[in-house]
Amino acid sequence: MDYKLDNHFLELKADVDQTNRPRQVLEAFYSYVEPRVFADSKLLLSSESCAQLLGVSLEQFHSKDFEKFVTAQTKLGTQPYACLYGGHQFGHWAGQLGDGRAITFGQIKGSDQTYTIQYKGLGPTPFSRAGDGYAVLRSSIREYLMSEAMAHLGVPSTRALSLVLSGEFPMRDRYYNGNPKAEPGAIVCRVAPNFIRFGSFEIFAAREDLINLKILTDYTIEHYFPQIKVQTKSDYIRFFEEVVQRSLATLVHWQSIGFVHGVLNTDNMSISGETIDYGPYGFLDEYDPSWTPNTTDEQNRRYRYENQPNIVLWNLLKLANALYPLCEDAKAFETILNRFKLQYEQQMLQKNKLKLGLCKEAVEDESMVESLLDLMRESKADFTLFFRKLSELNQSQMTYESIREVFYTDSISEDLEVQWAVWLKAYQHRLSNQGVDDSSRQQQMKQHNPRFILRNYMLEEAIQKAEAGDYSLLTEFSDLIKTPYEDNPQADRWIVLKPESAGDSSLSCSS
Ligand code: AMP
Ligand code: MG
Repeated sequence: MDYKLDNHFLELKADVDQTNRPRQVLEAFYSYVEPRVFADSKLLLSSESCAQLLGVSLEQFHSKDFEKFVTAQTKLGTQPYACLYGGHQFGHWAGQLGDGRAITFGQIKGSDQTYTIQYKGLGPTPFSRAGDGYAVLRSSIREYLMSEAMAHLGVPSTRALSLVLSGEFPMRDRYYNGNPKAEPGAIVCRVAPNFIRFGSFEIFAAREDLINLKILTDYTIEHYFPQIKVQTKSDYIRFFEEVVQRSLATLVHWQSIGFVHGVLNTDNMSISGETIDYGPYGFLDEYDPSWTPNTTDEQNRRYRYENQPNIVLWNLLKLANALYPLCEDAKAFETILNRFKLQYEQQMLQKNKLKLGLCKEAVEDESMVESLLDLMRESKADFTLFFRKLSELNQSQMTYESIREVFYTDSISEDLEVQWAVWLKAYQHRLSNQGVDDSSRQQQMKQHNPRFILRNYMLEEAIQKAEAGDYSLLTEFSDLIKTPYEDNPQADRWIVLKPESAGDSSLSCSS
């Protein structure tokens, strides 16, 4: 395979200890490690569009060389390494975390920018703590499919190049009931411009290691925010502002398609604003803003759908605290953070208007969206199916009868039915005043209202089959995620309400 290396992360200082022994890594950015090589690994899925980012040709994509690459047998001009970071987990400072089951092989000059190549599941690193550094098939399937699904949905995300069976069977207590069992192991090759997290800055700030905090920040700006040239301290504020805008844009995307990350700890927030670390995530089925997919979070529901905006802001505040020593201008940070809520509301309103096909400004825009969401919640509407259904209706079809099939209830109160009739009439009135014909509006709306999403019950079905050696559903899903906004007849059987037998779609943090 042809590729140009661009290993600029190595400009940063390496740990002097080169063993995989668990430890606190001080005054360094990464530790060189010895990854496991799996003799019996097997490639299950690979992403052609992700390979294209790396400049891999179609011929190379199908070559033995590529297989060697994705099974982590190709060194990329450096000894592989695991990165240091810390983080706030569930609202509390957790100290050093770091790449416990991820190992970076190097950086490649891609078709548009330099990408970092990282494998998950190649064994222990200094950051593995009590973990073994391996990954199991079920969590790897979830990471692979959702990374690629999000990219095709247009949401900023780390990418996944491949899903590989390791050929080994790590022990996992899957249901946390004291019954560990051997599970098929797997490797995912992740691709992103960088894997730098909010927690990468927090760890240096927490250790009062201001020299390395500055080195990391200058490095990040130089390579990933090159429009900012650091000349004065106020340029660190510009950097922070840019991170806020990127995080905000990603958040608005999540909310608009009903995506709940599930573990928005500061170590799971990318400095580039990409969705990162796919664990117990989920899409809203029934529109219940208080839903969280993470069973570990069931009590407090910190990471529930409706709380994601507050949490992203909270995480940005932690990043601001970490960057503060570089410029010591609390007022400037505060001003930016204080604008967040209003900016979020404005951007969300614009996004919702696109979802509804409303192209003119009107004073009632906000109340129209709000009352719709209230009705959807009260009627237990399926978030995805509802918006897609609305995208398909002609103005003459705007009746309660046309939308009731996407509710998780057979009957709603008479009062609610009347409220729907009122809302639909007002909506239809707005549409008719716009002077846009139905078919162009429908086309435009469909681009903001996905038809095909990977619900947790679907992933669970694919996982169960794959664990039994049947990869047909994996392959089917890896195809369908490529056209989430299209009326693809191949997806028809999945465009239905979540079946009752599917349970509550939540998962634990288990890796
Ligand atoms: P996550 O919940 O995946 O974001 O991971 C939180 C922290 O736990 C990170 O430092 C991970 O590297 C670490 N971790 C998760 N799973 C494992 C594992 N199987 N072995 C070692 N470390 C792990
Ligand atoms: Mg993580």
